[in-house]
Amino acid sequence: MVTRRATIVGLGALAAQLVLPSAEAAQAPSYQLGEWTGDGFAPMHAIRDGLWRTPLAAPERRVDVVVIGGGIAGLTVAALLRDRDLIVLERESEPGGVAKSGRWRDVDYALGSAYIVDISDPFLRLYETLGLAPRPVSEPVDRALSGAASAEDPREGEWRGAYERLKKLLRRLGESPDFPKIPIAEASAPALALDQFSLHEFLRREHIDSELFGLLDAYCLSALGAPAAEISAYAGVNFLSEINAPIYAFPGGNGVIARAMAARLSHAGEGRIVTSAAVYAIEPSEGGYARVGWFDAQHPGEPRCLEARWAVVAAPYFFAGRILLGVDPALTTKMTRLRQGSYLVANCCFEGSPADLPYDSWALGAQSFSDVISATAVLPAAERPTDHSILTVYAPFRDPGAGRARLLAGDRAGFAAPIVEELQRFMPESFGQARLAEARLTRWGHHHLIAAPGIVETMRNLPKRFGNVLLAHSDGQGMPAAESAIVEARNAVEIIKRG
Ligand SMILES: Cc1cc2nc3c(=O)[nH]c(=O)nc-3n(C[C@H](O)[C@H](O)[C@H](O)COP(=O)(O)OP(=O)(O)OC[C@H]3O[C@@H](n4cnc5c(N)ncnc54)[C@H](O)[C@@H]3O)c2cc1C
Repeated sequence: MVTRRATIVGLGALAAQLVLPSAEAAQAPSYQLGEWTGDGFAPMHAIRDGLWRTPLAAPERRVDVVVIGGGIAGLTVAALLRDRDLIVLERESEPGGVAKSGRWRDVDYALGSAYIVDISDPFLRLYETLGLAPRPVSEPVDRALSGAASAEDPREGEWRGAYERLKKLLRRLGESPDFPKIPIAEASAPALALDQFSLHEFLRREHIDSELFGLLDAYCLSALGAPAAEISAYAGVNFLSEINAPIYAFPGGNGVIARAMAARLSHAGEGRIVTSAAVYAIEPSEGGYARVGWFDAQHPGEPRCLEARWAVVAAPYFFAGRILLGVDPALTTKMTRLRQGSYLVANCCFEGSPADLPYDSWALGAQSFSDVISATAVLPAAERPTDHSILTVYAPFRDPGAGRARLLAGDRAGFAAPIVEELQRFMPESFGQARLAEARLTRWGHHHLIAAPGIVETMRNLPKRFGNVLLAHSDGQGMPAAESAIVEARNAVEIIKRG
């Protein structure tokens, strides 16, 4: 049992230090270290550094629609317009963006985006069209560990009252027409007012005990890119609503959605997703053809170009602002100034009898990570392997710039060691009858937008159409989520279909 004092000390550590894996040199680990997955930095940094400011080459091909970026947003656009002459240019070797999966033995795990919240229309309809059935994650949805090994969930103990008050407030907001929803275009005036201050400030006004803020910091940092004091109350309330409702997942996380979309697109015609294709310039046109300059990351010396009746930019806004040509610089500055978080995800592969864990466990007071997802918890009990398992450990950086610098340096052992050491203390049961066989690390340099106060207003006011170039990244909703990606994609598709 954790004492109140221990809990508060734990929260102090959390607030001050979340969440930067320490830089200590690692001893030779007893487990294998997988190669990096996630972002490949080189092509994007070459564009950022101006290597590709050359005039566009002569177009070698003309298409109806070109989609720049093959994350959930870009793939949704492509899947919905699959009957058109359409091509997706994706800079990485595989589509999916931050929604990708890996596999160890027969277990699929998430490399980033893991679960969904909203299965109302049009989201569920889309998943069903893809042949996907989201599975509710069994109760208890998650638990929080507050510093000491095997401590009980403080939300069931000392914080029960505060946590119940928070849930009640969120339930009231959830049932109200003023709930801060996705899509943001449908937000009421009272909902928009929430965007003007931080989640921290809003909850204080609502007399929610500050003891909970450490827990909320972990939630916010993991899902929205910064602690509660730096997050828009609109985004925070939207996200936190999930604590009153079931969440849904697929084995392997949201990479399953991306893969199903990519398969649908390929089924309609091979070669429509071009990978390792880094777009460095987009020239909009009024009534004519947009021109898109790109290069093959494997052959970076050769500029390529295609033209399209419509270009849909499903890449993050901070980067889209750098590659859109001929647009009001005041607008592109607003885009390039949007702040992005940085993130490390560690998939820990265990051999031996798995512990019976809830889907998502929040690690209060941890310095190396915010939460841990059990990759097999989404499977029916009868389908769970009995001699191996995987834990997906989420380690967002408290200081995104410092995080990026460390990710770029790429010391895998230095990242894995403190995470594994802390995981042993937080979830000793995982190591009880099992051995950590391998740690697989994924790096996200600019993983998603930080949903700072004012973000919803900014995104509502930013134009999303420049002649025949449309912006359709999840950033457009101001909240990083699969639902945001789908909403933005559908908006772009509607414009294209209207012609
Ligand atoms: C670690 C992590 C966990 C998350 N967990 C969840 C979760 O559980 N649930 C949830 O709903 N959301 C989660 N998210 C949020 C996630 O942002 C969304 O779910 C969604 O996947 C975003 O999709 P997107 O298509 O808008 O963007 P992205 O996934 O960012 O896709 C953009 C694509 O554009 C490509 N690209 C960028 N620039 C160029 C260029 N110049 N040329 C060509 N291609 C380019 C990128 O390579 C990428 O494939 C998580 C994010 C991270 C990082």
